[in-house]
Amino acid sequence: MAFEDVFPEPLRLALENVRKIPTYGERGASRLVYNLLKVSPEERKKVVSALTEASEKLKPCKECYLITDREVCAICSDSKRSKRFICVVEESQDAYAIERLERYRGVYHVLRGRIAPLEGVSPQDLTIDKLLERIEKNRVREVIIATNPNAEGEATANYLIKLLKDRFPSVKTTRVSYGLQFGSLLEFVDELSLEKSFENRK
Ligand SMILES: [Zn+2]
Repeated sequence: MAFEDVFPEPLRLALENVRKIPTYGERGASRLVYNLLKVSPEERKKVVSALTEASEKLKPCKECYLITDREVCAICSDSKRSKRFICVVEESQDAYAIERLERYRGVYHVLRGRIAPLEGVSPQDLTIDKLLERIEKNRVREVIIATNPNAEGEATANYLIKLLKDRFPSVKTTRVSYGLQFGSLLEFVDELSLEKSFENRK
């Protein structure tokens, strides 16, 4: 018997589709699908319906690209938050990590990635044009760059700092300085170090 005859079709389909999620690949897909099948049918149902709902209701904010269930996210639509301070992050989870501190009162801009030439990601693939448009439109005073403290995050920050200095010399551009281990990811940084690095921006 050929392999296709013994391998269940629904399993093949599940693996094949999960594999396409960025960073998952064959191993990630295998881990997710086989482990999901180990939990009880009720738990499994909850996972699947939560994912279905998330996938149907969540989309990037029209203004800042933060993942939200509205047209314009709760942060951009809050009139108490200053649009003149923009904190630039790589992904939505980074913005929500900062938000958890409940300290920052400006808005965000999600780049939807970082510059990574080896993976073929160039500045044009990020939401930089929209960032420039927002800086211009809202007469922004400070842009706080909070990309991840690793090689790609640093390269992205340097690129943005240079670009913004050229385009908007009167706008203050600061880089969140991480007293963190090089290579750590913003999302998983503990709250205290994140708060410190946010206050020590320069
Ligand atoms: Zn928004």
